Amino acid sequence: MADRRVVIIGSGPAGLTAALYTARASLNPLLIEGLDAGGQLMLTTMVDNWPGYRDGIMGPDLMAELRAQAERFGTDMLTGNVVSVDLRRRPFTVTLSERAPITTDALIIATGASARWLEIGSDRKLSGHGVSTCATCDGYFFRGKPIAVVGGGDSAMEEATYLTRFASKVTVVHRRDSLRASKIMQDKALANPKIEFIWDSEIADIHDVGKGEVTGVVVRNLKTGQLREVPLDGVFIAIGHTPNTGLFTGQIELDANGYIVTHDGTRTSVPGVFAAGDVQDHIYRQAVTAAGSGCMAAIDVERYLDQVPHHLGEAQQITA
Ligand code: NAP
Repeated sequence: MADRRVVIIGSGPAGLTAALYTARASLNPLLIEGLDAGGQLMLTTMVDNWPGYRDGIMGPDLMAELRAQAERFGTDMLTGNVVSVDLRRRPFTVTLSERAPITTDALIIATGASARWLEIGSDRKLSGHGVSTCATCDGYFFRGKPIAVVGGGDSAMEEATYLTRFASKVTVVHRRDSLRASKIMQDKALANPKIEFIWDSEIADIHDVGKGEVTGVVVRNLKTGQLREVPLDGVFIAIGHTPNTGLFTGQIELDANGYIVTHDGTRTSVPGVFAAGDVQDHIYRQAVTAAGSGCMAAIDVERYLDQVPHHLGEAQQITA
């Protein structure tokens, strides 16, 4: 007998919405939240694009509300780091450090993706105080101000172009002399008079950690080694995201960038395993789309469990 009908790994908007829906479907879900509980919204300040809050809501407050709502309907919460999963045998097994393994008939993976950082120290220290990894979330705060975007991919071009709606000027700092972004996105950014490019360069430091706000960046030319200071008010880091799928590698189909491949809604390559939110979405990456896919996963699980009796007793090898 599996311990659980459904286990959800991840406590961002996708995981908590899946919990809310599966709890309301009387499946008594177990949600496992890691030590970074709440996901990327815990790193943001005001969220103005979550429907229903006309004056916005702080990211951590929104997550607290979602968590309380999921609990209200009977979600069990467990804090801890999942160290391994076994998706090859039914029921599935989820193992946390220093705990007996948990077995479950269905699994929803909502482990999200983590934005990459420059790892220069000052970028993380000024996170939420002028340094951001989400233009859609934070662009609005930089109305009329000069800012920088780091990166040369589609995300960087998309964010730079989007941010020209607010910023007085956007300086793209890219480490090479050509862009990785698709031609159409490059052309759009290169033609935008509010975007300036600094090529072959990296941001060596962001000022001013002491003041707790961004006052400028130190840019290093990688060909000449020359340093120069550029005064500005914000830095958007758009050097890619890493989906949190390390636990599932080799057991479930992932795409070339490591995202979980879903089909027919939130189904994965393993029947009974579903994925929602940024762990399977590199396109939209919004809190509201993550929540929407969490809802879809819950409904998919409900339908799946209708056909899977809660017994399975002895672990069974999956052949599908
Ligand atoms: P990406 O394509 O991996 O590009 C990352 C960029 O950041 C690259 O230009 C890279 O430089 C740079 N970079 C990486 N690490 C860095 C570091 N430590 N310091 C400085 N620069 C660094 O990531 P992405 O732009 O997030 O795109 C990810 C995927 O999503 C892609 O497949 C993309 O096409 C897709 N996407 C699509 C859209 C769209 O179609 N609307 C929008 C966003 C993303 P190098 O070029 O030198 O490697």
